Amino acid sequence: MTQRVQVIENILSANDQVALENRRLLEAANVYALNFMASPGAGKTSLIEQTLKRISSELHIAVVDGDIATSIDADRAAAAGALAIQINTGGECHLDAIMLKSALSELDLQGIDLLIVENVGNLVCPASFQLGTHQSVLIASIPEGDDKPYKYPGMYRGVDALVINKTDLLPYITFDMDYFRRGVEMLNPGLVTFPISCKTGEGLDSWIAWLRIQVSSHSIK
Ligand code: MG
Ligand code: ZN
Repeated sequence: MTQRVQVIENILSANDQVALENRRLLEAANVYALNFMASPGAGKTSLIEQTLKRISSELHIAVVDGDIATSIDADRAAAAGALAIQINTGGECHLDAIMLKSALSELDLQGIDLLIVENVGNLVCPASFQLGTHQSVLIASIPEGDDKPYKYPGMYRGVDALVINKTDLLPYITFDMDYFRRGVEMLNPGLVTFPISCKTGEGLDSWIAWLRIQVSSHSIK
């Protein structure tokens, strides 16, 4: 048991080293990078599409998509106007810094303002692996249920922004928004939160406004 703990600690610290290298590469090219995390089907790719639709005329955006298999998501991001790179993790249920490093080596970072990393759909381990991105965004969705902050605290604790997608489904699904938000507040007090619907476009303006501020305040530094 002790040995196993030691192995996991070593893997994580090796990962953190590479995450630091990734951060330096991004900083050197003045790229602001976000890590999108969520369960499968919450709407990471849909949010990327809607985001690209609204700001790809102002910013050069690249998307790195992590999936166990296929290039469906990278194809969607490319169709929406991003430079897109797919990472197939070969069974791994999260992205790690080494995978991101190899994707970064395929991009001309100098020409990019915003990098969105779409992590593997999973509410457990992506939170444990630093990638070197500047901030993390968790995308929750109404059909997942209002108890997810309580059941997956690790994911909610470490993120810098929370998107609650599929608000258009609220009339059809039992989802107690106050209960959900209380759970979030307990884990991550004051977390900036955007209830949105990628389907109707509701709430997306606030999300885009926040994103613009993050990118511009980063590039001023
Ligand atoms: Mg996706
Ligand atoms: Zn994993």
